[in-house]
Amino acid sequence: MSGFHYAEGELCAEGVPLSRVAREFGTPAYVYSRAAIEANFRAFDAALAPLPRLVCYAMKANPNLAVLSVLARLGCGFDIVSGGELARVLAAGGDPGKVVFSGVGKRADEMAAALRAGIRCFNVESEPELDRLAAVAAAAGARAPVSFRVNPDVDPRTHPYISTGLKENKFGVDFAAAPALYRRAASLPSIRVVGIDMHIGSQITELAPYREALVKLLALVDALAADGIRLEHVDVGGGLGIRYRDESPVPLPAYAAMLRELARDRPQTLVFEPGRRLVGDAGVLLARVEYLKRGEGRNFAIVDAAMNDLLRPALYDAWHPVDAVRPRESPVDTWQIVGPVCESADFLARDRDLALAPGDLLAIGAAGAYAMAMSSNYNARPRACEVLVDGERAHLVRRRERVEDLFAGESIAP
Ligand SMILES: *Cc1c(COP(=O)(O)O)cnc(C)c1O
Repeated sequence: MSGFHYAEGELCAEGVPLSRVAREFGTPAYVYSRAAIEANFRAFDAALAPLPRLVCYAMKANPNLAVLSVLARLGCGFDIVSGGELARVLAAGGDPGKVVFSGVGKRADEMAAALRAGIRCFNVESEPELDRLAAVAAAAGARAPVSFRVNPDVDPRTHPYISTGLKENKFGVDFAAAPALYRRAASLPSIRVVGIDMHIGSQITELAPYREALVKLLALVDALAADGIRLEHVDVGGGLGIRYRDESPVPLPAYAAMLRELARDRPQTLVFEPGRRLVGDAGVLLARVEYLKRGEGRNFAIVDAAMNDLLRPALYDAWHPVDAVRPRESPVDTWQIVGPVCESADFLARDRDLALAPGDLLAIGAAGAYAMAMSSNYNARPRACEVLVDGERAHLVRRRERVEDLFAGESIAP
C-alpha cells in the first residue's frame, strides 16, 4: 500500500488528484498519504506479534507534526536525536514514556529536558556521555534510564554514508568495552540500567547483517545477566530498506521470523527504530516542469524542485522514481530532471524516458523519508509546503515558507 495510484489518467494520492494539490497549494509540494503511513505502521507492528515490543519511529526521517500525530494515535513511540525532536513529539501529542533518545552528542540541556519529560530511555553512546548524564540526573534529583548503544562491527552493505555499525564509524561503544561500562553504570546512583541497543545502518536490504549483529548483542545480554545486570529491553534499531528502483527490501515476515527465532523465551521487550520503512513510500515530491532545454545529446527538464528540496540524489547518487501526473503518449525523450540551483549536483533524476511539455506536473516518488527532513534554503529558496492527504481531503500541514521568513532572524550590522 503506497497510497498513490492512477485513476482516469491521473496520479492521485488516495482520493485526491495531484493536479488538485498543485492548484490549491502550489508546487513544489511534499504530498503524504495518511493511509499509507498507517498501513506501514500496522504491517510492521503486526508482523512482530506476539513478541513483546515497542515500535519507536525514527522521526528524523520525517518530523512533520501531522506525521508524528498520525503515528502517535496508533500507539507508536519515537526515536529522537535532539531536544528539538523531543519538543516536536510533545507538540504532536506523542507519549514521552515511549521515547528513546539516540545520538552521539547530547547536550546537558537536552538531557535535562528529556528527564523532565520522563522519556523511556537514553541510548548512551560513550563513557563521557554517561558521566554527563549521571551528573545532570543527580542535579535534577532523578535517575536516568540508560541503554548503551553497542557497535557490533558488522557491515550492513549499504551506502558508506549511511552505514553506522562498523568499528570505524563514530556511533556506539565498542563491544569489548561494554561490560565494564555496564558495571560502572550499575554502580551510579543517578543511573538506572534498562537496556541495550544497536543501529547498524540505513536502507539495508539484507537480513544477514541484522542476524549477525543480533547474535552478538544477545550474547552480550546473557553475559551481563550472568554478571547480575538484567536488562528490560533490547533495542534492535532501524534501517530496514525500501524499494526505490529494483531493490528487494527484507520482507517483514522474514525479519520477524529471525527475531522470533533468536529472541525466543527472553523476558526483554524488543524495541524497534524504523524510520524510512514507515514513511518512505508514503510521500511524493510534486514538481512542475518550468523549461525543456534540448541539447547535443542531453535533454534537460528544468523543474521547480531542486536539490534543496530532495538532497538524496546529489548526496548519495540515490535513484527516485519520476512519473508524470498526467502521462502523455508522445513524444518520449530521455531527460535529465534538474532544478534551478546553481550546482551541477543539482539533479533529481538522470536519463528518464518521459513525454514532457512545459507546465507538466511530475511526481518524484518515495519522497516520504529524508526529503523535507534534509531540505535547506540554499539559493534563498523557501521550503516547499507539506500536504497530508486523508481520503478525499488534502490538509496543508506545513505552509510554504515565504521569502521574508528566510531572513526574519537576520539584521544589518551598523
Ligand atoms: C536514522 C536512525 C534510525 C532510522 O533509520 P532508517 O534507515 O530510517 O530506518 C534508527 N535509529 C537510529 C539511532 C538512527 O540514527
